Amino acid sequence: MSKVGTFKILRAVRLPFLDTNEQVVHEAGTRSVQTLKKQAIKLFYRNVMISPLVDYAKQVKSPNFPQYWKVLQCCTTLQQSQNKYLTPTHRCGSRLCSICANIRTAKTVDKVYPLFDLNKKWGYLTLTRANKDLRSASAEKLRDVVIDMYWQLSKIRQRAKRKFGEIDAVITLEVQPEGYKRKKETKELYYGYYNPHFNIIAQMEHLEFIKEEWLKLIICSEQNQNLEEVLPENLKASLLELVKYTMKGVTTFKKASKPFFINLEAVDTIMTALKGKRRLITWGCFYKKNIEKIEEAAIADLDLEKYIYNDIPITDIGNRVGLVDGKGILQSVTNEFIKTVYWEFDNRMCNYFYLDDWGDKHWLLNMEKIPEKPQVYFTIGRKKYQPEISTLILN
Ligand SMILES: [Zn+2]
Repeated sequence: MSKVGTFKILRAVRLPFLDTNEQVVHEAGTRSVQTLKKQAIKLFYRNVMISPLVDYAKQVKSPNFPQYWKVLQCCTTLQQSQNKYLTPTHRCGSRLCSICANIRTAKTVDKVYPLFDLNKKWGYLTLTRANKDLRSASAEKLRDVVIDMYWQLSKIRQRAKRKFGEIDAVITLEVQPEGYKRKKETKELYYGYYNPHFNIIAQMEHLEFIKEEWLKLIICSEQNQNLEEVLPENLKASLLELVKYTMKGVTTFKKASKPFFINLEAVDTIMTALKGKRRLITWGCFYKKNIEKIEEAAIADLDLEKYIYNDIPITDIGNRVGLVDGKGILQSVTNEFIKTVYWEFDNRMCNYFYLDDWGDKHWLLNMEKIPEKPQVYFTIGRKKYQPEISTLILN
C-alpha cells in the first residue's frame, strides 16, 4: 500500500529495501499504524493547548500544576517490548488529555450502548441554569453551584420514581470556560460565563417530566432546556456526544477565527471546582458498578483489560520490525532488532524517535506531513495575551 512510505523509512535508517510482505503476520482487528499516526497528531495538538496551561499554573501556583504536567508527559514515551508491542509507559487519565479522554469515552460507550432497548423512544435533554451570577466566578462558587445542581437533579429523580418507578438514564455534567464564544446557528459572537449544564439521555416521556420539574426548581430560560428525540440509528452517536470526556478549553476571540484562544484562568478554575466530582451519572438499567469504575480508576489500570485500547502491534520480521495496519498490510519497517526500545515523542517533528548507539535518530512513523503549529493565544478573563511565557517544548 504505502511503498513510498516504506522507501522513505528505509532511506532514513540507511537500510536496503527488503521485500517482507510474505512474512507479515496478519493481526486483523488490532490497532494500525494509521491509528498511531493519528495519535501522534493528537499528541501534538494536545501539547500546544496544555503547555501554556502548565506555564500559567506555575506562575499563579495553581494546585493543579502537577496534573497539567502529567498530561504533558502522557504517551510521550512508547516502550517497544520484546519487539512486539508499542505501549505507552505512562498515561495521565486527565480530562484535559485528548488521548486518555478518547479511551475513556470508547470504554464507556462500549459498556453502556448494549444496554439500550432500541424499541423504546429515546431522547436527549440539556438542562442549563441562568448563569449571570457565574461571571468571573471563583472555583468555590462554581463548585457550590454544581453541588446544588446535583442536589436538584436527585430531587427530580425521586419525583420521577414515584410517578414511573425506576427510570433509566445516562447523565453527564459539563462546564465550559468563560470567554468569547460563537452561537452555533448564527455564528454571532458573545461573551459567555461558565455554563454548568447536564446532558441526559433517557426515554422521551421521562425526559419531558424531568424538564418540567427542572423548570419548576431552577431559574432558567425555557428555550435553553432543549429536548430532542433520538432515532435508534443516531443513538450511538448521541451517546458518544454525551459521554465524551474532553473538556472544551478553547474559546474564540473577537473577530479572529483561526487562532486558538484558551482562557487559562477559566480552565484552571473549572479543574479546581470539579476536583473529585463525578461527571457521569447512571440511573436504572445503566447503573452498573463497572461503569462507575471507569471514572474512578486510573486509566493505566483499565487499559490492561482490553487489548485494543492499549498496545499497538508491530511484527517481528527477521532482524527488523515491521509495522502493520489493521489488515495486516506492512506500513513501514523500523530498524534493526533490539530487545527494548524507548521511543520518545518529538513535538516539533510530530513523531516518535530513538537514538541508537551511534547517536543517529530513528523515526517510528512515516509522517508525510508535519502539522502546522496552530497559533495559540491565551486569555485571562477578557484580556488577551501573547504567549510570551515559554510555551515550553514547542519551539
Ligand atoms: Zn493522558
